[in-house]
Amino acid sequence: MSKAKRIGVLALQGDFREHKQMIERLGAEAVEVRLPRHLEGVGGLIVPGGESTTIGKLAREYGLDEAVAAGYEAGRLAVWGTCAGAIWIAREILDYSQPHLGLMDIAVRRNAFGRQVDSFETELEIEGLQEPFHAIFIRAPEIVSVGSGVAVRSRYQGRIVFAAAGGLWATSFHPELTGDTRLHAEFIEKIAV
Ligand code: GLN
Repeated sequence: MSKAKRIGVLALQGDFREHKQMIERLGAEAVEVRLPRHLEGVGGLIVPGGESTTIGKLAREYGLDEAVAAGYEAGRLAVWGTCAGAIWIAREILDYSQPHLGLMDIAVRRNAFGRQVDSFETELEIEGLQEPFHAIFIRAPEIVSVGSGVAVRSRYQGRIVFAAAGGLWATSFHPELTGDTRLHAEFIEKIAV
């Protein structure tokens, strides 16, 4: 039997524990990543939801921007940003200036779904999934545009909420807060190195 894949969760701030539980449920090894050396042997990194300004500042302080970018560019690390994590990996953040990784060719708008509907749940159609996915949005960002190499896998009311480009995934919603493991399973099996 092959060795379980080692999947990292950026554990600086936010709901990294829920992602860790998903990874473990799927039989992979979950590693909390707080420093560049924690990325050793990690083939996929999930960046959780939380507060993107805090995640961005701490990641820069601990040298994680460089380490994650280097791993991705060397082809040994895939990265999936969920909610605040999607903001962190985006090339462009509209209206805000904050430290971020900027690795994925997408532009995002923070808190794009307005105050009245700060948080909501919906059944999303996602390209590649047979059945809809129960998606939870919490002060979620919208992906306002994607570069030419980036595929749109889902929209909510016409607005992009899941973008994928090879080893990079960005989701506006929180797939770790439901019992549905389909996206984590796909990331671990097909996207992580
Ligand atoms: N609103 C947060 C931000 O802009 C993201 C919210 C979340 O991750 N649930 O950073």
